[in-house]
Amino acid sequence: VAANLDERKGGPGPWHRGLDMCDRCAPQPLSRRTVLASAVVGAVATAFRPLPSAVAVAAVQPVPGLEVFPRTAWGEGMPTKGPLAREDDVRFLLVHHTASDTSHRQADVPGLLRSYYRLHTSGARSWNDIAYNFLVDREGGVWEGRAGSLAGAVRGDATGGNQGFDQLVCLIGDFTSVMPSAAALAALEKVLAWLADRHHVETAAGSTATFVSRGSNRWPAGQEVTVPTISGHRQLSVTGCPGDTFFPYVRDRLTDRVRSVRVARVPPPTTVTTVAPTTTTPPTTEPATAAPTATTAGTVVESGAPAARPARPGASPSRGPVIVGGAAGGALVGVTAIALAMRRRSALRRSVADDPVDPP
Ligand SMILES: [Zn+2]
Repeated sequence: VAANLDERKGGPGPWHRGLDMCDRCAPQPLSRRTVLASAVVGAVATAFRPLPSAVAVAAVQPVPGLEVFPRTAWGEGMPTKGPLAREDDVRFLLVHHTASDTSHRQADVPGLLRSYYRLHTSGARSWNDIAYNFLVDREGGVWEGRAGSLAGAVRGDATGGNQGFDQLVCLIGDFTSVMPSAAALAALEKVLAWLADRHHVETAAGSTATFVSRGSNRWPAGQEVTVPTISGHRQLSVTGCPGDTFFPYVRDRLTDRVRSVRVARVPPPTTVTTVAPTTTTPPTTEPATAAPTATTAGTVVESGAPAARPARPGASPSRGPVIVGGAAGGALVGVTAIALAMRRRSALRRSVADDPVDPP
């Protein structure tokens, strides 16, 4: 549904046009150049198999176990059309599908991304770049979409208007009547887990995000919205995205799957830091191995949380870096950190173990 003018970036509405397939990337005639480029990519793929990539540009690894093809793998000669805003306040992650091209091979993906770029940056949409921060292909490849998304949070665009506070991950394919492949689901979970780490998004069962919408065709600007921290596009806009068959999985299963990826990444405690006894510890001739006390000092960054950032007003205390104590200097910071990490790991494992259903 390419001609919905209400999808234009920043358009104030009237939004409501009824159910509208999300982000329909209608097949477009391929240019001779695109066909040739795809042929070259295909030839490279054949020549170098079984390298993991069918693409000439090497993937980068933002976190161990996750490889992402940078935008340069598909975007040669396709610059952004204007400035892209940073998304300074990521509170949840939004899952899309392209509603197209379900049966692609990975070698087709650069050409597909170029067609999405053309669709998104022209005509009714005229956004400044491809809408999504990341895309996932049928073979499990992850691709940087919107420029700069590997380096940090870039504000996306979406059919129906982008209400904000999110990062967008889009599966390539139409999942109205079929499920994504197992490889695509596994890759989706990994990229979501990484983004949840990067932006301190909670993935405990039932986690939600609350924010004031910047405007979509479901949540007008100014309206307070609460949604799951991993949501499908239809929860934020009036759209069929990410497909009737796939959406129940997004709603009911995906957060658990992402959490299990994050749990698996939490390394076991390996270091114990002991520091001098504090004034709250009774004097003793023993070495400084006193049991942790209620009052400790220092800052502990939870395992798996890669970077600290300033606490957001109203953020739950469990989000982001854990600040332990702060007053009485010098105690067993390391032991406390390990205890915290083990408790969190154990809690996460419990909730995953409660979950009897395997992914498709
Ligand atoms: Zn969508």
